[in-house]
Order: sequence, then C-alpha cells, then structure tokens
Amino acid sequence: LVTLENITELAWAKMDSLIPAIIQHQDTGAILMQGYMNEASLKATLTTGKATFFSRSKQALWVKGETSGNFLNVSQVLTDCDNDSLLIACRPIGPSCHLGTESCFPEQKLTQQNFLSELEQVIASRKGGDPESSYTAHLFSRGTTKIAQKVGEEGVEVALAAVAETKEDLLGECADLFYHTLVLLQDQNIEVSEVMAVLQKRHNK
Ligand code: AMP
Ligand code: ZN
Ligand code: ZN
Ligand code: ZN
Repeated sequence: LVTLENITELAWAKMDSLIPAIIQHQDTGAILMQGYMNEASLKATLTTGKATFFSRSKQALWVKGETSGNFLNVSQVLTDCDNDSLLIACRPIGPSCHLGTESCFPEQKLTQQNFLSELEQVIASRKGGDPESSYTAHLFSRGTTKIAQKVGEEGVEVALAAVAETKEDLLGECADLFYHTLVLLQDQNIEVSEVMAVLQKRHNK
C-alpha cells in the first residue's frame, strides 16, 4: 500500500522521476488507462483522492477530469515488487478515455463475474430515467413494492424451472432473478460489493 509516509521509497531515481501508473476499475477490474506520475502528482493523488498525473507533453501536473469532468476517484494505490510501477484502484466518473470510451483499452475481455458490476452501472444509470424508454426505468418508477414482488416471482420461477423445466429455462430464470435482484439493490441504494463483502466474510470464517 502506497501512502504519503512511504512515497519516497518508490524507485524515483531509477525511473528518472516518472513512474507508470495503471488505473484499474475498483469493481470490474477493468484497466481504464495508464499515465505517468512524479512525486508531486502522486502526493496530489493521495491528498485529494483524484488521480493526478504528470503530463509529459505539457510538463505539468494534470488532474484527470480537470477539463472533461471525468475524474478518477482513488480507493487504493499499490506498488509492484520492485517499486517502479503503480496499480491504482479507482471508481471513475464517466469515460476515462479522452476518445469517449470507458477504458483506453476498449477491446479488453473481462471475466464474466465482472459483467455483474457492469450491469450494476447500467442499471444505476437508468434510475430516474424515462419509464417509456427502458424497462429498468419503468421498474424504478413503479417503486420498491413492485420490484420486490418481481424478485419474489423470479425466485419461485427459478425453483420451478429447476425441478420441472429444461436447463435453458433455468438459465433464463436465473438471469431474470439476477437482473431483478440488481434492480432491487439499486432501488435500496445498496452496492453489489456490499453483498460480496458479506459472502467474503462468511467464507473467511
Ligand atoms: P481530462 O483530464 O479528461 O479533462 O482531459 C484533458 C486532456 O487530457 C484531454 O484533452 C487529453 O489530451 C488528455 N487525456 C484525458 N484522458 C486521457 C487518457 N485516458 N489518456 C491520455 N490522455 C488523456
Ligand atoms: Zn517493477
Ligand atoms: Zn485513451
Ligand atoms: Zn422469469
């Protein structure tokens, strides 16, 4: 863990004062972008909680998002085995690439588990949206009782499919249940990561 206290232990001299920083999405694990940090930009990153780089073209500190508003909120800064590289976990606001994609590596393949986080973000973006334009926005507009009822129904449908229907039916019903559970969590302002934390805590016992 890199903190303001141990920042000088990084291999600044060997790296001519610039260390590459890999920005990773805290929830999906997606690599969002890569930039360079000098000591001042890393200090700013740790102090403000916003990823701040050293721009080699402008020869100046650059807060990612300073003009676009697409800031990177930093959760954790790690260094590698020989202290010459940084891995920074972030929650991005908007797309991280200046070309408008979420990541500067838009072709990267994420593991399937990460898709749950991606779907969580899409569902969150539908909150308060036009109920005519999306089924998710429609569900939110119907309110908690309706969403909770859907989760209950889908749970029963999963159980029925398992005992009396085909594998294909069961897959579809499980997908329905996952989706509606994500909508319910969003409605309750609960993050998927909070549920994961409960599972992890049980596992660690
Ligand atoms: P921003 O920091 O998002 O306000 O963007 C300001 C400028 O920084 C852009 O016009 C680009 O020149 C540069 N920039 C922003 N994001 C990236 C990125 N992910 N990789 C490289 N350059 C970037
Ligand atoms: Zn290294
Ligand atoms: Zn980019
Ligand atoms: Zn169903």
